[in-house]
Amino acid sequence: MAPPLPFRDPSLAERDPEIARLIREEEQREAVKLRLIPSENYASKAVCEATGSILTNKYSEGYAGKRYYEGQQIIDQVEELAVSRMKALFGAEHVNVQPYSGSPANLAVYLAFCQAGDPIMGLSLPSGGHLTHGWNVSITGKYFKSVGYGVTRDTHRIDFAEVRKLALEHKPKILWCGTSAYPRVLEFDKFREIADEVGAKLCADIAHIAGLVVGGVHPSPFPLADVVTTTTHKTLRGPRGGMVMCKAQYAKDIDRAVFPGLQGGPHNHTTAAIAVAAKEAAEPSFKTYAQNVVDNAKALAEGLLSHGFTLVTGGTDNHLVLIDLTNKNIPGKVASKALDRAGIVCNYNAVPFDQRKPFDPSGIRIGTPSITSRGLGIPEMKRLANWMAEVVKAPDDEALLTRVAGEVRELCAGFPAPGLPVQ
Ligand SMILES: *Cc1c(COP(=O)(O)O)cnc(C)c1O
Repeated sequence: MAPPLPFRDPSLAERDPEIARLIREEEQREAVKLRLIPSENYASKAVCEATGSILTNKYSEGYAGKRYYEGQQIIDQVEELAVSRMKALFGAEHVNVQPYSGSPANLAVYLAFCQAGDPIMGLSLPSGGHLTHGWNVSITGKYFKSVGYGVTRDTHRIDFAEVRKLALEHKPKILWCGTSAYPRVLEFDKFREIADEVGAKLCADIAHIAGLVVGGVHPSPFPLADVVTTTTHKTLRGPRGGMVMCKAQYAKDIDRAVFPGLQGGPHNHTTAAIAVAAKEAAEPSFKTYAQNVVDNAKALAEGLLSHGFTLVTGGTDNHLVLIDLTNKNIPGKVASKALDRAGIVCNYNAVPFDQRKPFDPSGIRIGTPSITSRGLGIPEMKRLANWMAEVVKAPDDEALLTRVAGEVRELCAGFPAPGLPVQ
């Protein structure tokens, strides 16, 4: 009998140089550019290590102590750690860490509380809401009777008179409060009052602001909301994932909705990384981080205002700034593409009551979570605002874009980002 071949398990670089090279290139891109997309961040090395671990090998349908497969000696401990740390961090009565991301977390809430065709309410997408709060192209707009509320024409802040009027008229099962492009504090107490008046479940979706909530720089939806959903990869700075947190009385309904209602086996490597992120977010330095995110956003907003930019609501209370470029005579898409060439990465975005089309809107959306993770502060926000003003004034000036990209690269070299190989 021939001896067995020596065991070989080549590295990624050896096995798949193409993908290895692309990962290297993305590391480089994230190192030398100012990433201003407000839903993105830099996960720490520790979070990335857990995400890349062999926990991806294990099936564990069910919950700790009640699984459908054997061999859960370790996984149960991992998930219990993630759950108990997140409960402590948010002050939640119950936490489910299994949703694959923010959208499936929200779907679980619908499955737990609604039948197809039931009325639900959320902030409409053009006013800064999320697709999964009932927008028409989403399953949540197709399978439920979705009623969107908006912001007022004059202040661009949530129109609570409209929320109340629509809620009384439509009696939603779920009242969503949560945003993807809203630069102001969410007044959970006002939503609670309206939800109580009409017998709706109040569901706070804090996907964008979870890190600000645990950092103490945004009011907490606990204990006001019945259910709180979030992603784990935005300001919370964990791996790409989602969670549903709720009052103890809804724990069974939520858990059943996530599994077996919507999903199969949880992503245990992600669960481990969520536990790591919870540990990081419980450290005092995370409070400083959250405060710096908001301070930087305010400084960036001031810098932009001094250059004559129009900001939706006139400024920001959180990590995000929404710029209306109408007075600069440049569409959001043209601006975001020029900025990207200049090393400043953002996304084009609709502004409230946008006169342009959704795929070619008037605004850009920027935020400070990523650049704050790499340690940028107030002085750098001034420089950033100056660069943005230059680029928006001359989006076709390739020499200018190249010059700014070089200056950005130089700045970035002094602020190494978490998670990336030493730059
Ligand atoms: C990002 C976001 C989500 C969805 O998260 P995914 O992980 O992209 O599915 C849900 N709700 C809000 C408010 C968000 O901003």
